[in-house]
Amino acid sequence: MQERTCHYIGGQWVPSASDGGIEVFAPRDGSILATVPNGGVADADAAILAARGAFDRWAATSVGERIALLGRIQKGIKARGEEIARCITLEMGAPITFSQRVQVPSPAATFGLCAKLLADLPFEEQVGHSKVVREPVGVVVAITPWNYPLHQIAAKVAAALAAGCTVVLKPSEVAPLNAFILAEIMHEAGVPAGVFNLVTGYGTVVGEALATHPEVDMISFTGSTRAGARVSELASASIKRVALELGGKSAGIVLDDADFSTAVPAVVSNCYQNAGQTCTAQTRLLVPRARYDEAAALAVSAARGFRVGDPLLPETTLGPLASAAQLQRVRDCIVRGLADGASLLIGGTDSPAGSVPGGYYVAPTVFGRVAPESAIAQEEIFGPVLSIITYENEEDAIRIANGTQYGLSGGVWSASDERAERVARQLRTGQVEINSGYFNIAAPFGGYKHSGNGRELGRYGIEEFLEYKAMQFRPAK
Ligand code: NAD
Repeated sequence: MQERTCHYIGGQWVPSASDGGIEVFAPRDGSILATVPNGGVADADAAILAARGAFDRWAATSVGERIALLGRIQKGIKARGEEIARCITLEMGAPITFSQRVQVPSPAATFGLCAKLLADLPFEEQVGHSKVVREPVGVVVAITPWNYPLHQIAAKVAAALAAGCTVVLKPSEVAPLNAFILAEIMHEAGVPAGVFNLVTGYGTVVGEALATHPEVDMISFTGSTRAGARVSELASASIKRVALELGGKSAGIVLDDADFSTAVPAVVSNCYQNAGQTCTAQTRLLVPRARYDEAAALAVSAARGFRVGDPLLPETTLGPLASAAQLQRVRDCIVRGLADGASLLIGGTDSPAGSVPGGYYVAPTVFGRVAPESAIAQEEIFGPVLSIITYENEEDAIRIANGTQYGLSGGVWSASDERAERVARQLRTGQVEINSGYFNIAAPFGGYKHSGNGRELGRYGIEEFLEYKAMQFRPAK
C-alpha cells in the first residue's frame, strides 16, 4: 500500500499540517490502495501563498520559456505513461486498454498542444488608438474530479501555466494518485518553485478553503453541478473568476435516414465508455417512434457485446465504477427507473458476471420506452445506463434533446451531414458529434445551461486564464 503524507508546495514535498489520511480504494476489488493527506485550511493557505509568491516572476517569463517547459512535462508524462495508465486503472477502474489509449495520451497531448498554440497566440493587438494586451489572470485554483483524472488536470494546469498563471491543484480524493506522479514530473521538468502546487483533501474542507481564499484570482472547477454551484457561491464574495465544467445528460439523436446498424451501437458505446462515467456520455438514445423495436434490439445486442471484468485485464471493456458511493448511486437510479415504469431491456442492479468480488461493478443496462420527463431521463446517472426515448419528428427530437437542465454535448446521426448539422445547430449544447465525429482536444470544450461556464482545451482553454488590458494612447496628430 502506498502512503503519501506530503503535499507538493513551493517546489518541495511538505508534510501535511492536518492529521490523518484519506483512504484510496481500488474499484476492481474494493481493497485499500493508498492513503493521501487529508489537507486542511493551513495546507491550502501555504499552497496559495507559494503560488502568489511565484506569480510575478512566472508571469514575466517569455513565451519561449513556457513552451520549453510544457514540452518537457509532455515528455515526462509519455516516459511514465505505462505507470500512469496502471495507476489510473487501479484508482478509478477504467479498463487498462482505455487508460493506455485515452487516459494517458490525452493529457500528454494537451501539454504538447498548449506549447504549440502558445507560439501563435496573439498577446497584443492594436485597436484604434488602444494597445490591447493579454495578461495572466493570476493565482489559479484547479479542482478536478476522478473520471478522466489526469485529462481534467491537464486541461486546466497546462493552459494556466501556458497563460503565465501559477496553480494550486486539488484533485479528487477518489483518484488522487496520478496527480502525485504529475507533481513528480513537474519537479523533474524544472517547474520553478511555487508555480505548480498540489494539495489533497476533501472538497468540503480544503476545496472550500481554496475557493474562499482572498489571494486566489480564479477557480477552474470540474465536477458535479451541485459542487460547482457551491464553489461559485463561495468564490463570489471575493469576485473571483470562476470557470465551471459540470454534468451532462446528452442525447444521441438517430434521425430516420441514418444507418441504424451503425448509429445505435455508436450511441451505446459512447454511453458505456469509461463505465458511463463520462460527462459528455450520450445517455439518452433518441429514435423515431416507428423504429423503436429495431433500435431497441440493436441497443441490447450492442450492450451484450461489452465484457465486464477486472479492469487490469486487456479483454475487459466495461470496468467497475470508481467508488462504492457511485455504485450505490447508480443502483438507486436503476431502481428509480423501474419504479417510474421504464422497461428494463438488459442489465439491472444485480452484480454482473465477470465482476471481481468486492469490486464496484454494474451490468450494461438499457431501459426502453423511457418518458423524457422521468428522473432517469433527466438526471445524470454516471454509470452504464442507457435510456431509449422515442420522438415523433425532427422538431420533437430537438425539443426532447434540449429538455433537460444540462447542455454539455450530444450526437446526431443522419445519412446527410447537412441535415445533421441543421439539427446540431438547434441543440443548446457546447459540443455535438455528427455521425460519430470524434473528440478534438483543439476544439473548445464546455457547456451551456447547468453544464457550466467557460471553455477548456485548445486556444480557448488558454484564453480562459488571460485578462485583457487596454492602454489608450493619444492619437498622433
Ligand atoms: P464532485 O463534484 O463531487 O467532485 C469534484 C471535485 O470537487 C473533487 O475534487 C471534490 O473534492 C471537489 N468538491 C466537492 N465539493 C466541493 C466543495 N463544496 N467545494 C470545493 N470543492 C468541492 O464530482 P465527482 O463525483 O468527483 O465527479 C463526477 C461529476 O463531475 C459528474 O457530475 C460529472 O458529470 C462531472 N464532470 C464534469 C466534467 C465536465 O468537463 N463537464 C468532466 C468530468 C466530470
